[in-house]
Parts: sequence; structure tokens; C-alpha cells
Amino acid sequence: MTSSPLSAKRTVAAVIPAAGRGVRLGPGAPKAMRPLGGVPMLVHAVRAMIHARSVSLVVVVAPADAVADVRSLLGNHGLPEAKDIRIVAGGDTRQESVRLGLAALPEDVDVVLVHDAARPLVPVEMVDAVAAAVRDGAPAVVPGLPLVDTVKRIDPGTDFVTGTPERALLRAVQTPQGFDRATLAKAHATITQDVTDDAGMVEQLGIQVLVVPGHEEAFKVTRPLDLILAEAVLARRRASDVF
Ligand code: C5P
Repeated sequence: MTSSPLSAKRTVAAVIPAAGRGVRLGPGAPKAMRPLGGVPMLVHAVRAMIHARSVSLVVVVAPADAVADVRSLLGNHGLPEAKDIRIVAGGDTRQESVRLGLAALPEDVDVVLVHDAARPLVPVEMVDAVAAAVRDGAPAVVPGLPLVDTVKRIDPGTDFVTGTPERALLRAVQTPQGFDRATLAKAHATITQDVTDDAGMVEQLGIQVLVVPGHEEAFKVTRPLDLILAEAVLARRRASDVF
């Protein structure tokens, strides 16, 4: 796809749902507040969005009882003032939190990236690549990686295997997922079933979702081992002086 002259004018916002409790990481602070290299995960995620050239506005969706804490946390970490950062209260599900983030966007935003706070080390280049694919005309874009493991479908009642999807046709998808704003708003207004990502809602509208290359450092910090991996990635970046 080639860029049209109009595409450069589209305004991109990032919505970061960060209102989950992160129970799979074990007891402690809400997941987004867990430190990585001494800095809360959420701050890493906000920095990645802010440093992406394509992004002009970031909306952080905080736990409803922690909006003020998140505001002072972000204020304490010296984020660039040139870009607009807004903080809103989240809901009971990720879907609801994203919906509340979308509701806080100004009218002139026409491309939305939805990025999990739980993916703090996403490379800035990947953020810009997703935004560029939407600007170039795709209504929905997800970064994805081929799988290393073979995946089995099971019968949840018996745990017996019912099928083996062809691995070469599968992708593990990450965030940020990028959308034409009107498409994402329609998906959130129409689809009420539980989904685990925003692109899934757009698929249910019958709209095509494009996969672009993901990055292994955009992994989701979910389990205790992921924290160890994230610390190692961060230490390597700091040693090589990469942002
Ligand atoms: O639970 P899961 O790992 O899928 O959460 C993905 C992202 O959605 C996390 O960044 C989490 O903070 C966010 N979330 C949210 N509101 C909820 C539940 C999850 O913003 N009610």
C-alpha cells in the first residue's frame, strides 16, 4: 500500500488500558504499577507511546481508585510535555476500560492505537509501523509473530485433543493494535461478547484485520517468569544505551 497525501494528516492517539489487577503475577500492586528496572511498567508503556513519532496524544485508563496516584506517578517520571497525556478511570473488564478510553478522545483523532500497559517494552519502531499501516488505509492492524509451539484445540470437559491447527497459519498477536477510529468505535458500540483483544471485535463486524510483523520484546508481562525476562531485556538495553 502507498501513502496518500491525506494519510499524513491523520491524528493518532494511543489508549493504554492499565486498569487490570494482574492476579496471575501473584499478590502485590496492580500489574501496571509493578516496577521494571525501578520504574513502573505503566511508565515504560507510556514512554514507548510518547516517543513514537506518529502518536500525538496518550490516554491512560487507570484503576478507578487510582486515577490520582497514576497522575502523580506519571508527573514524577518526567515525561515530555510536548505531548498530551490524559488519565481516565477504567472499568471491570479490559473491553470496558478501552471503551472509557475511547470516550475521552478529542474529535480530531482519527487513528487509535490500543496498547496494553502489560507490554512495557514494545519497541517504538513497531508502534510507528502499526500507525503507518492504518494511515495507509487498513481499518484494523495487529502486530503478530509466528508461533514456536504447536497449538492443540481441546475439549474443555475432558482435556482430550480435538484438533491441531496448522502452525504456519497461526500468529500470536500483540499490541499496539491500530484502528481507524470510526471502525473501533463501531466495534465497541456493537459487540457485547467478551473478547481478549480489540481486533477480535472488529473481525466480528466482518471487517478485515491486517497482520504486520510483531517483535519479541513486545511480549506481555503476565506471569512471574515474564518479569525476569523483562528485567533482562531492560538491562541489555541499558547496557547498549538503547532507549
Ligand atoms: O488481563 P490482561 O493481561 O489481558 O490485561 C491486558 C491489559 O488490559 C492490561 O494492561 C490491563 O491492565 C488492562 N485491563 C484494564 N481493565 C480491566 C482489565 C484489564 O484496563 N478491567
